[in-house]
Amino acid sequence: MNVAVIGSGLAGAAAARQLRNAGLDVSLFDKGRGVGGRMATRRAETPLGEMRLNHGAQYVTAQTDSFASFLGSAVEAGAAEVLNARLVSIDRGGNSAPLRGGDRHVGTPGMNALVKHALDGFEVQTARRAKKLKGEPGAWTIIFEDGSTEGPFEKIALTLPPEQLIDFLARSDGDFASIIAAANTVKIAPCWTVMAALDQDFDPGFDGAKLLGGAVRWMALTATTAPAGVILQASPDWSEAFLEDEPETVARALCEEIFVRFGMPSPVWKTAHRWRYAMVTEPAGSPTQLSDCKTLGVGGDWRLGGKAEHAWTSGEALGKALAV
Ligand SMILES: Cc1cc2nc3c(=O)[nH]c(=O)nc-3n(C[C@H](O)[C@H](O)[C@H](O)COP(=O)(O)OP(=O)(O)OC[C@H]3O[C@@H](n4cnc5c(N)ncnc54)[C@H](O)[C@@H]3O)c2cc1C
Repeated sequence: MNVAVIGSGLAGAAAARQLRNAGLDVSLFDKGRGVGGRMATRRAETPLGEMRLNHGAQYVTAQTDSFASFLGSAVEAGAAEVLNARLVSIDRGGNSAPLRGGDRHVGTPGMNALVKHALDGFEVQTARRAKKLKGEPGAWTIIFEDGSTEGPFEKIALTLPPEQLIDFLARSDGDFASIIAAANTVKIAPCWTVMAALDQDFDPGFDGAKLLGGAVRWMALTATTAPAGVILQASPDWSEAFLEDEPETVARALCEEIFVRFGMPSPVWKTAHRWRYAMVTEPAGSPTQLSDCKTLGVGGDWRLGGKAEHAWTSGEALGKALAV
């Protein structure tokens, strides 16, 4: 039996592994230049040289045995490590407390290494934006945006975020009304993220901080001695309010706030990335959903919640459900 997995973030990777384990012939497609989705690492050319900056997920945590075991295998393979950093939470009054929680893992050298590790042994066709499906249950052909086609596939696993998923299914042959209805209930908050480079030493007393009371909700430093990379993530409310601003305006505003709050030196390079759909705030509520014909299923963090582990759990459930 052959199956196409569309989307190679953490959910797509988890689904693909389950499907392969069940003996299916798996083909993977993603519109991005690489794999990882929101487990994203940017290689940026800066005046201080090339920098690798995690501008999506900052770290992952595991509550389930399956994700914990996957993280263990990633550590063994050198694709992840336990984050050993000064992490704090700082309230509106400037009071700082250690950030609570168990082990946090990061991908090495970047967050996308976790997804690459999960996809070890798979060939992913990148830069392929799927547009719609043609055909019928058991014989689906994928039509890509450039007009190219792949298939027929007996089964289809879709791990696109809800907005893209709804567009894709609405254009496709077949009746996917119940999946579209569920995806329509999901809410995902945006997140403006600034990446910056410092050519001066800067130690605010932490490596990562959850900040309350301003535009910036999360700040992380790659080092306290120059050259150092900085990540600033705006709060959902601020990101929503300034969603259509120019990246330069956003980068300036968020850096100025951190200058005022912590005396951060003026960066020698900065840029902003807009995640229009970043963090799931109201999920669909179940790990996966199959179409009535049972030959197409969906998964992703949006089924369960806003964390990487939710994507993993959903992807695994999708793979298992489709493999039957
Ligand atoms: C700024 C930010 C910070 C975050 N911080 C954390 C954190 O610290 N800890 C944590 O646990 N989680 C965090 N998250 C959430 C975490 O990144 C996500 O939950 C997880 O990566 C989602 O995985 P996914 O596979 O469901 O979706 P995605 O990673 O979004 O994967 C979907 C994939 O589908 C592809 N795709 C979309 N449309 C098409 C198409 N038409 N054709 C082909 N491919 C397509 C995309 O390119 C993408 O690769 C953060 C997210 C963001 C954005």
